[in-house]
Amino acid sequence: MNTEILSGKGLAGLIRQRAGEEARLLDAAGVRPSLAVVVATADESTLWYVRSIERAAERAGIDCRILDLGQDATEQVLARVLTDLGSEPSVHGIILQTPLPEGVRGENLVGLIAPEKDIDGANPLSLGRLAVGQPAFAPATARSVVEILDHFEVPTAGRDVVVVGRSAVVGKPLSLLLLAKDATVTICHSRTGSLEPFTRSADVVVVAAGRTGLLTGSHVSEKTVVVDVGTNVLPDGSLVGDVDEASVTGVAAALTPVPGGVGSVTTALLLLHTVEAARQQSGVLGLSLAAGVA
Ligand code: NAD
Repeated sequence: MNTEILSGKGLAGLIRQRAGEEARLLDAAGVRPSLAVVVATADESTLWYVRSIERAAERAGIDCRILDLGQDATEQVLARVLTDLGSEPSVHGIILQTPLPEGVRGENLVGLIAPEKDIDGANPLSLGRLAVGQPAFAPATARSVVEILDHFEVPTAGRDVVVVGRSAVVGKPLSLLLLAKDATVTICHSRTGSLEPFTRSADVVVVAAGRTGLLTGSHVSEKTVVVDVGTNVLPDGSLVGDVDEASVTGVAAALTPVPGGVGSVTTALLLLHTVEAARQQSGVLGLSLAAGVA
């Protein structure tokens, strides 16, 4: 079996291009799309990731403000900053970057992100709206999986899709998006027991557990399309997903790589969500952003 590698790079480029075009149209109408990223950590890899969002935003013509509150920021300070950004008309998108300082309860803060600016779908209201089919920003990672499947013309309607992971930022919203695309969705998690009976018979398996080597060749069949959401940093500093690439390659039909798969599309979608939010908030008419980009 020749396992097709589904790179996210081409799609990410298309989405960035789309975001850039929309940003230019908005700019011409007097609206400069703007994203605020609230950071409270000294973690180097997080800071690197945030700077990569900043660079990508600027290249797309989106203003990006990094509000670095430091690793000692309190919940009260973070709450005030998020509330202030919510009422700041020049800011269209808000991201609260994790990890947060010890003792800060992120679950108390995400609800303070103004829903119309919640471009990474962190506010529970956004998840609730997704659940009942109302317009909302999905977490960019969850949408990224769906965009990749669409881009590579992997059918989901009436197909069996297994999502491994049930977090509020990836597994749950992704399951809702797939359900909306008429997939038959099974959610597996840390208490599932053996994954094999679920994953082997599935058409699509999405792994979002944060466990190196969780999905191996014995978990898949020749029809399985595998999407690897996991990002795990090995002791040598290299980045790997949740899939044991060596054993899955040659068995599964297709696989997204890590890096260069879901992650690259996710960053591009944050930009697209920001221009969508800017357009909605500014009421600029005459632009059309289709829901899908693939
Ligand atoms: P999380 O820790 O909040 O949730 C992990 C989920 O995996 C849980 O629901 C848990 O039940 C499940 N799980 C853990 N061990 C399991 C096992 N042995 N078998 C089956 N299920 C198991 O993590 P998260 O925030 O949902 O992120 C998941 C992964 O996705 C992480 O590696 C994270 O770094 C990565 N991630 C990637 C992107 C991206 O853009 N590429 C974005 C967000 C998260």
